Amino acid sequence: MSRPDLSTLGIKALDHQGICDLMQELGQPRFRVKQLEQWLYAKAAKSYDDMSNLPKAMREALAQKAPLHYPTVVEKLVSQDKSRKYLLELCDGSVVETVGIPSNGRLTVCFSTQVGCGMGCAFCATGKNGLVRSLAPGEMVDQLNIVSADFGERVSNAVAMGQGEPFANYDNVLAALRFMNSPDGLNIGARHITVSTCGLLPMIRRFATEPEQFTLAVSLHSAVQLTRNRLMPGVRKYELDRLRDSLISYGENTGRRPSLEYSMIAGQNDTDEELDALLAFATGMLCHVNLIPVNPVPGTGFKPSEPERIEEFARALGRAGVEVSIRNSRGSDIAGACGQLARSAR
Ligand code: SAH
Ligand code: SF4
Repeated sequence: MSRPDLSTLGIKALDHQGICDLMQELGQPRFRVKQLEQWLYAKAAKSYDDMSNLPKAMREALAQKAPLHYPTVVEKLVSQDKSRKYLLELCDGSVVETVGIPSNGRLTVCFSTQVGCGMGCAFCATGKNGLVRSLAPGEMVDQLNIVSADFGERVSNAVAMGQGEPFANYDNVLAALRFMNSPDGLNIGARHITVSTCGLLPMIRRFATEPEQFTLAVSLHSAVQLTRNRLMPGVRKYELDRLRDSLISYGENTGRRPSLEYSMIAGQNDTDEELDALLAFATGMLCHVNLIPVNPVPGTGFKPSEPERIEEFARALGRAGVEVSIRNSRGSDIAGACGQLARSAR
């Protein structure tokens, strides 16, 4: 991979291999890679000056070649349900959001992978203003460290379900997941790290070949092609039958069960026809369906389905032998729930 521009994003632009190459360029022995990564990601250092076991000349060379930036929290909102949403300002002035969700001794961070999003889903606030830029690997890992520091707890789970489409920023997202997973980074088990995609098929296939046991979630939202085209215009070209085939291959190749995310929108994707299509899509494949009442986003006009209707969907799926859960997003009172993260929030 060619070296990303270090002058703006600095060291956070690099993946593990990039850090190895940089150390070699600086004439440093191999063990310095581990030390540097531990400082950056396990200890969340904010300056090279903190890195007391690195030689001063090396720290100076690093500061010159690859400046060390750390996001600043410009706003923090605390929900009644104890989840916290942070507005973070990055080194170029871009603002992204990240959400910390505590539950039963666990701390889940819902992190952003891009500033804005280019996919334009009809029900989502993030897509409204298009894509600004993709995040660098370290900018994703930093989000976890910021939440961890604020809660005073280690992050047990990470989900790429904040702003952005992770598979439209595949290499950087993978590099970030690896720092999260690494014993020199945050040491989070791969199974506790989830990527949610709107369904970019070539990347789903690629993800199936990665050696780690990361978890995959796919935003389905309708198994009727015309409805899905309307709700998710950015993935129109990846038709549902091909999506289903790639998810079946994913299950066969990895032995893992992808989640199918289904936000229920009254009158849009909760009709009997939609239920039949969902049953046909989800039966006969390894998957777990998550039914989520859609979170209201101003300007969309979408309302969540009635709770009774959501339960009917769940019962029908269960009867057909499909694993299913009903999820309620946390943090909706602070616009921190799924699809409510907008860069205009400031
Ligand atoms: N871009 C990725 C991940 C970020 S969105 C994706 O689309 O999968 C995280 C999840 O929130 C996705 O399942 C997305 O479809 C869902 N979502 C978006 N807007 C929502 C809304 N208003 N209510 C409920 N879920 C929503
Ligand atoms: Fe992008 Fe996901 Fe929102 Fe769609 S739902 S616009 S892919 S962030």
